[in-house]
Amino acid sequence: MPPPTILLTGATGYIGSHTWLALQAAGLSVIGLDDFSNSSPEVLKRLQRLSGQVPVFERVSVCDAAAMQSLFQRHRIDAVVHFAAFKAVGESTRQPLAYYANNIGGLLTTTQAMVDAGCLRFVFSSSATVYGDPQQLPITEDSPLSATNPYGQTKLIGETVLRDLGAAQAGWQTACLRYFNPVGAHDSGLIGEDPRGTPNNLMPYVAQVAIGRRPRLQVFGNDYDTPDGTGVRDYIHVSDLAEGHVAALRRLLDSPGSLTVNLGTGRGYSVLELVRAYARASGRDVPYDVVARRPGDVAACYADPALARTLLGWQARHDLDRMCVDSWRWQTSNPQGFDS
Ligand code: NAD
Repeated sequence: MPPPTILLTGATGYIGSHTWLALQAAGLSVIGLDDFSNSSPEVLKRLQRLSGQVPVFERVSVCDAAAMQSLFQRHRIDAVVHFAAFKAVGESTRQPLAYYANNIGGLLTTTQAMVDAGCLRFVFSSSATVYGDPQQLPITEDSPLSATNPYGQTKLIGETVLRDLGAAQAGWQTACLRYFNPVGAHDSGLIGEDPRGTPNNLMPYVAQVAIGRRPRLQVFGNDYDTPDGTGVRDYIHVSDLAEGHVAALRRLLDSPGSLTVNLGTGRGYSVLELVRAYARASGRDVPYDVVARRPGDVAACYADPALARTLLGWQARHDLDRMCVDSWRWQTSNPQGFDS
């Protein structure tokens, strides 16, 4: 029997590219799709070097309904992992229509093409942002849901669309994976996160300070109710996250039903802990200034990862030091990202 074929949308992005390798290593066959709106074609060359296989890839927007229909007509696809989306929270507040159009529009065209082709297994990139300002820590999957910005709304609406699809048509199997804070890079240093412009997330910013692309880090607030006063987050190595997708797909392929799980480590680290770990990993200073809190930031956010362990047999393995070491290897081998 040929191995199951998995369609990855947003396949050349940060998490998609790492998941592509993990799926191939697990013996699954992968078709990648991306429109390069936030990634580089160079990723495909790197993936070929790492896997020794020529990537099967189509340059398509998930919002192009005809192209999505055509793709499903030309390939037998057993499951879809849907990464394709815009993801910058700040930008989403300035351009809500672009976010709703791409993130919700793309989800609708993809799932419509799946319904028409009879392919009903879907893994969705959700986010811890659906928990809004968490009332209880660690965060379990049954915690209250809310969104504080249009990006978060697109994830909440996405989960709702999938629940409604499951209720409307027997046979749908969906996995909503609520990622915490993905960081780090593949241990080869050949693929990693390559933010365009100013990084929105802490570790890529710290990496650019360590390598001298930016002078100093701004730490937003040191008066939170946390051990050192700075914000606490659940950082998860992107390779662990990629393995979480393999585990979720195995579960959908092997047994009926749908699931919603957190993918995090269950351990929170503060901004200053991350800065110190990065300085250790890089052997560089990471100078910083403490500035005012940012509106909308929560003090602490970390997962209860128990359900993923029970349902998927998956748990994160890499600690913060390893996340920083792998990020630094990627940063030093590619100081200007994929354009280096
Ligand atoms: P990314 O921007 O690196 O990857 C997304 C990819 O999707 C990019 O390659 C982009 O070119 C592509 N894309 C966007 N719109 C598209 C479209 N219409 N058609 C085809 N391709 C399109 O982001 P990422 O960090 O890899 O995130 C992947 C998914 O995980 C996203 O859905 C994101 O919202 C979600 N997520 C990310 C994080 C995070 O911190 N990185 C956290 C939680 C959830």
